[in-house]
Amino acid sequence: MTKIAFIGLGIMGGPMSGHLVAAEHDVTGFDVSADAVARLVAAGGTGASSVAEAAEGADVVITMLPNHPHVEDVVLGASGVLEVAKPGTLLIDMSTIRPETSLEVAKAGKDKGIRVLDAPVSGGEAGAKQAALSIMVGGDEEDFAAAKPLLGVVGKTIVHVGPHGAGQVVKAANQLVVGGIYGLVGEAIVLMEASGVDAKIGLDVLAGGLAANRILDLKRESMVARQFKPGFRIDLHHKDMGIALAAAREADVSLPLTGMVAQLVSAARAMGYGSLDHSALLKVTEALSGRSQNEE
Ligand code: NAD
Repeated sequence: MTKIAFIGLGIMGGPMSGHLVAAEHDVTGFDVSADAVARLVAAGGTGASSVAEAAEGADVVITMLPNHPHVEDVVLGASGVLEVAKPGTLLIDMSTIRPETSLEVAKAGKDKGIRVLDAPVSGGEAGAKQAALSIMVGGDEEDFAAAKPLLGVVGKTIVHVGPHGAGQVVKAANQLVVGGIYGLVGEAIVLMEASGVDAKIGLDVLAGGLAANRILDLKRESMVARQFKPGFRIDLHHKDMGIALAAAREADVSLPLTGMVAQLVSAARAMGYGSLDHSALLKVTEALSGRSQNEE
């Protein structure tokens, strides 16, 4: 049994912390949303009223927060994780954030004797609920080895991809591929519908051929039905496209398709779809063709 502090109990952190409780770990959770804390308590965990209360005395601190300012606040801020955690504590940041912040957190942790890993995930809400996430981990080998049994409680594919920040670079690569596929599935739907073809039947065929992919498997029905309840919000994907483009600039490479997908995701936000699932990228493609529809 490991004493775990879990900070950020939202769409992903909620089910993930629940799995750790079910695996009989001692989990104390904190979230700025009291409802989210109440859900962890109902699942058998302990609720805390601050980051400090959760992290004090923990062997492992896991963060699952929206973006880098939240991680900076929770980890580096006053009464944050680095101020209260005991030396030797393992801090696993599972949020998707820019690699620079992961490097900064790792350095600040080292100065305090706190071991840090960046461990962003892929697999979405379904992956979190089914404990089937893919987890890409950056940091030191021995810290990865220490974290692996716990990560195995929430994920299926757990890979050490390199030093601090490397997990975030791999996640950025993941997000540009996911965004691109959503964009193209949306274009396929618009083309088929505008040509008088039943898009549901058409996508069923695509899902059995070379164009098969997980997004077609999991989302084709909800996209054709115009159901866009998140899931993964457009706002978060917008953040991730920004991370991917900044990483490309840092690495001195040109990613033209990523740039285009980033603009489509920006358009989705500008059209007011930031809180919808990222499959709502379809709505931008519809609008470009003058074929807007209402979602369910
Ligand atoms: P979410 O908004 O549902 O959850 C984030 C939680 O953090 C919220 O409950 C919020 O109240 C809490 N929070 C914010 N600031 C806080 C603070 N200062 N202290 C304590 N709690 C705070 O988001 P999510 O969908 O769970 O995503 C979390 C991270 O995981 C993001 O970085 C996202 O990009 C990434 N991610 C999400 C998915 C997905 O499908 N939802 C998939 C893979 C990765």
